[in-house]
Amino acid sequence: MRLIVLGPPGTGKGTQSRMISEKFKVPHVSSGDILRENVAKKTDIGKKAEVFMRTGQLVPDNIVVKMMAEILGKGKYRNFILDGFPRTINQAHELEHLTKIDLVIYLSSSEKVILERLSGRRTCSVCKAVFHIKNMPPKKEGICDKCGGRLIIREDDRPETIRDRLKIYEILSDPLVFFYSQKGLLREVNGDQPAEKIFSDIAAMLKKEKLA
Ligand code: AMP
Repeated sequence: MRLIVLGPPGTGKGTQSRMISEKFKVPHVSSGDILRENVAKKTDIGKKAEVFMRTGQLVPDNIVVKMMAEILGKGKYRNFILDGFPRTINQAHELEHLTKIDLVIYLSSSEKVILERLSGRRTCSVCKAVFHIKNMPPKKEGICDKCGGRLIIREDDRPETIRDRLKIYEILSDPLVFFYSQKGLLREVNGDQPAEKIFSDIAAMLKKEKLA
């Protein structure tokens, strides 16, 4: 199964990708996580990407495409769930040269729900597990249930940055949605539902498409 999970920030792309990955044993490839790793390790890519990420802007296509081409092009992944990539139509065209895609899951969501989700999101600074202060609180405040790491607010989940990310997303996502629907690959799922319901809708769809 070669999937893309598309949707605005805060629709639970990461959570759903991790759930699909665990259930169907398919690697989860998140461009955001890979970029954050590069920033933490202060690699060349990380140094170039940091300022864009901190201010909620997209990292330029040439940097992201090169990074993803190295990952997808190594033949390491015959199956994958792509989360956060492609983000622009240019990236989608480049991806066409790298690999074949079976299906694109589009998580649609309203702005109200997105703002609520992102502003309450807490991420483990060590294992990257995601919690929410209301919807999925950790057992002990500020501490990751899974590894005991410290929970943090991602730099780009701060309210002033969230609105910028949403604006950028809106401008860039329409052509992507159009591109994949023209190819007959796009399947929409209601991302305003609780995570378990979104996941059961996705699992049913993967079965219907004979991908699971
Ligand atoms: P995410 O974890 O997917 O929300 O990504 C966090 C940040 O990483 C985004 O706000 C962008 O700055 C950057 N980023 C992740 N994926 C991409 C991409 N495909 N193209 C450009 N920037 C990206």
